[in-house]
Amino acid sequence: MLVHELSHALAGRLGGIHVRRITLFMLGGMAHMEREPPTWRSELVMAAVGPVTSLALGLLFLWLAGLVDGPLEVDPEDPRAALAALSPLATLLAWLGPVNLLLGVFNLVPGFPLDGGRVLRALIWGATGSLRRATRWASWGGQAFAWLLIGTGMLMLFGLVVPVLGGGPWSGLWLMFIGWFLNNAALVSYRQLLVKETLEAVPVARIMQTSLTRIDPDLSVERLAEQQMMASGQRVLPVERAGRFLGLVSLSDLQRSERRAWSRMSAADIMTPVSRLACVAPQDDAGEALAELARRGVNQLPVVENGRLVGLLRREDVLKWLALHEATGAS
Ligand SMILES: [Zn+2]
Repeated sequence: MLVHELSHALAGRLGGIHVRRITLFMLGGMAHMEREPPTWRSELVMAAVGPVTSLALGLLFLWLAGLVDGPLEVDPEDPRAALAALSPLATLLAWLGPVNLLLGVFNLVPGFPLDGGRVLRALIWGATGSLRRATRWASWGGQAFAWLLIGTGMLMLFGLVVPVLGGGPWSGLWLMFIGWFLNNAALVSYRQLLVKETLEAVPVARIMQTSLTRIDPDLSVERLAEQQMMASGQRVLPVERAGRFLGLVSLSDLQRSERRAWSRMSAADIMTPVSRLACVAPQDDAGEALAELARRGVNQLPVVENGRLVGLLRREDVLKWLALHEATGAS
């Protein structure tokens, strides 16, 4: 799996797309691209290299297994005896071979976001010139495959035995879980593209919140909590002195601080200083800012220009903007 993902990363790097990290998890691996491939050709190469690598690895391991233990004498009466006679290294290789072949074949299924789905998307993208249409169709492929897995899993619960996959309730539940996961991934990746397209070339300044309650660093935490935080309707309060942005006080900053010391502490004592915040500029791309919100797992980003806070980009503002522009069909 790691070699499979590394091959995606390497092919991406050759095409100018950097992969910042690779996640390996229970159901497989994922190479996180910093952006989508710019052309259908680069998408095609980057997607296809993964299954090709897995298939090549599978054949390589089987070939090595043959080299290590020589030709197998298989007794047709008792084929398992030949496997039992293999050396440990050959056993490992004879297991890794088919597993990699299976990984390669599974990833070739033409359902987005599996590699085969990306190959399909690249081909439709090349044929129609529309990334959006290509993603929609490839995502449908992904959902169809996912429902096929869920349906097969259900039948396995009721006794169906499938070649390679086997049968029984546990295999059935497992297959249904994988199908559910794939269906989500297919839906989410199409929605992500819609969001990205809707936010394309929209500057942060058009979405950000500008009428903000701002507080002085010397304000006592007690007054901050009881008057400002409740009255303002904001979850965070920007701290400023003479127009200079110093940091943010959030609800969780308040919760973390000692309740009994509130009368003795000031906003400056509990705020998250600007040096530890991720800030954006008003002319930044809103789509990028949304990705940054997700990456950092925060609800808002301060919008800063020349050391002054000009606004706050909150998650809910982006969602509101999306709702407005999807509903009216504008942009
Ligand atoms: Zn892959």
